[in-house]
Amino acid sequence: MLDIPSTARSPQQMFGAIAKNYYTELMNVKREDLVVVSVMPCLAKKYECQREEFSTNGNRDVDYSISTRELASLIKSCNINFDLLPEEDFDNPLGESTGAAVIFGVTGGVIEAAVRTAYELFTGKKLEKIDFKELRGLDGIRMATIDFNGTAINIGIAHQLGNARKLLDGIRTGMYNFHAIEIMACPGGCIGGAGQPLHHGHSDIIKARFDAIYREDSQKKIRKSHENPYIIKLYEDFLGHPLSETSHHLLHTHYFDKHNK
Ligand code: SF4
Repeated sequence: MLDIPSTARSPQQMFGAIAKNYYTELMNVKREDLVVVSVMPCLAKKYECQREEFSTNGNRDVDYSISTRELASLIKSCNINFDLLPEEDFDNPLGESTGAAVIFGVTGGVIEAAVRTAYELFTGKKLEKIDFKELRGLDGIRMATIDFNGTAINIGIAHQLGNARKLLDGIRTGMYNFHAIEIMACPGGCIGGAGQPLHHGHSDIIKARFDAIYREDSQKKIRKSHENPYIIKLYEDFLGHPLSETSHHLLHTHYFDKHNK
């Protein structure tokens, strides 16, 4: 199992590594003087940011992780009415995001974001149809074949761990043959994460979040990760190229058997 997952770090840990290594350079501050706080749909992120491999000399890449439910409670306790606040952009250079980033929050979204980029890298052609509706949905296990300009790419998707087990068992027995799979632990993906405002099992709330994610994606000016101008600049100025030594060091991780620790 340990050789199956991608070595790419989670968005939280990629952001933390970039903030503590690239942003500190831009701002000319020491990493110890920068405090990175992530706001996550996920309670597991509190553990993840404490993992030893995501620290340098005891200084974490992400210092604190709070859940969206905790943020909502802080906002309420400060009597801030979000409906009365003007719209604002996030601060740059680390504030620009794409539709591909937005859909990471829903089952099928990470693989759709990857397909939007992989299609152009693999075929060398511009992707005209950005929406891969065949990858979307809330069924626990889904499969689709995507046409990469004549090459059929088989994708498997599961959310919730019972479904993940069935998908992986199917791969082991040879019942399924995929080029790529996406697994999300929570129902619906991060929209159903344990750190999110409680939905008390109401599937209509998950569905409303699902619809909101794709609506937000469709309204974004940039919808492919590799077209984000700040990502392009980050590679030009700092990381070099995908899988360079620096990007391998900062954006990737490794897995180990905790029984042997
Ligand atoms: S799917 Fe659940 S466990 Fe996985 S990152 Fe999202 S909220 Fe966390």
